Amino acid sequence: MIYKRSSALFANAEKVIPGGVNSPVRAFGSVGGTPVFVKEAKGAYLYDEDGNTLIDYIASWGPMILGHAFAPVVDAVIEKAKKGTSFGMPTEIETKIAELAISMVPNIDKIRFVNSGTEACMSAVRLARGYTGKDKIIKFAGCYHGHSDSFLIQAGSGAVTFGSPNSPGVTQGTAKDTLLAKYNDIESVKTLIEANKGEIACIIIEPVAGNMGCILPLDNFLQKLRVLCDEHNILLVFDEVMTGFRLAKGGVQELYNVKADIVCFGKVIGGGLPVGAFAAKNEIMNYLAPLGPVYQAGTLSGNPLAMAAGLAMLTALNEDESIFEELANKTEYLHKGLSQVLIKNNVTHTINRVGSMISVHFAEDAVVDFESSAKGNNDTFKKFFHGMLNQGIYIAPSAFESWFLNNALSYSDLDKTIAACNTIFEVK
Ligand SMILES: *Cc1c(COP(=O)(O)O)cnc(C)c1O
Repeated sequence: MIYKRSSALFANAEKVIPGGVNSPVRAFGSVGGTPVFVKEAKGAYLYDEDGNTLIDYIASWGPMILGHAFAPVVDAVIEKAKKGTSFGMPTEIETKIAELAISMVPNIDKIRFVNSGTEACMSAVRLARGYTGKDKIIKFAGCYHGHSDSFLIQAGSGAVTFGSPNSPGVTQGTAKDTLLAKYNDIESVKTLIEANKGEIACIIIEPVAGNMGCILPLDNFLQKLRVLCDEHNILLVFDEVMTGFRLAKGGVQELYNVKADIVCFGKVIGGGLPVGAFAAKNEIMNYLAPLGPVYQAGTLSGNPLAMAAGLAMLTALNEDESIFEELANKTEYLHKGLSQVLIKNNVTHTINRVGSMISVHFAEDAVVDFESSAKGNNDTFKKFFHGMLNQGIYIAPSAFESWFLNNALSYSDLDKTIAACNTIFEVK
């Protein structure tokens, strides 16, 4: 396939937008080459500026779980837009989507809408700090919670020492309040809690991680975190920006039967418009302004177009019990097909999967945390990525990303994908 026009458009973009993109991963930095410019999309397919059709496994990094240009969402947005696009005043539709979200997700009484997953996580942590009166937080290496300062932290040599920022512009002062633990390693969490007794406001986690590949919590890891949090008066924050309304109606809380104290949402909840949200029981949510002392606000929060899109999306997911199962079945089919092909061609690999999230790692050992994920062979991944792209299959342009299946994908799309993988690695 030829991506000539995309390359030219990228060159133009680079002159006026840093790196030519408005979010770094889109620039293909870790796989090389130039990004594909999309013109439009429908169902499972992307149509690019060169006239290529691509089978999409990113789904806008998650939101388009029912496929692109999903009619009920598009119609709802058009109808709303005709009536005004922003008021900065309360609207009834905000209550409607709040009621629906609360009915779908376990263990939450109130929800506050914001404009992105970043905002949701940032606000959730402020709320946790305000509510507990403590400053420090624990996060896990390889988990992404958006780009606010507190989360852009890497461990120093010892995880018990202060973290150091991994982006210039994040101050040491901020970094010292973020402690870094190892995913799936409960001892690393216990060590941090012991060394910082009475100082930790919350533990924030992607309860199924999707930003270092797709990584599952093993050996009741989430249940163990719940116990630790209860013992030490720490709030457990589930960042379900990826997993919420994707892995189950009620997200990971439902799927793994664990309760979080605060839950963050984004992606699917906005149906493809900029929406994030965070939610908790009354006791915690009532701590937010204007009821309580923790400040949080937004000119465009609860925007009518965004709420209309989100409401249409959640309604569709709520009405059809079978969607999550259909998605999981398709993902399992893809997993089996890719495994067979990779085994047949002697390609060292590990595939992780849960529900409609899946990632292929060119690594020998099980991928259970950031370290094991980083051991994957990036040269093989690059070959895989570009080989797929050349055959019209669009997967995430980084080995550290999960794929997100959408329910518009057909079994014939999956078969084409499996065959494309075979073509790349076939021993001739
Ligand atoms: C995407 C993502 C975010 C950030 O959401 P944005 O809308 O990109 O700001 C936060 N947490 C997780 C788990 C995510 O996947």
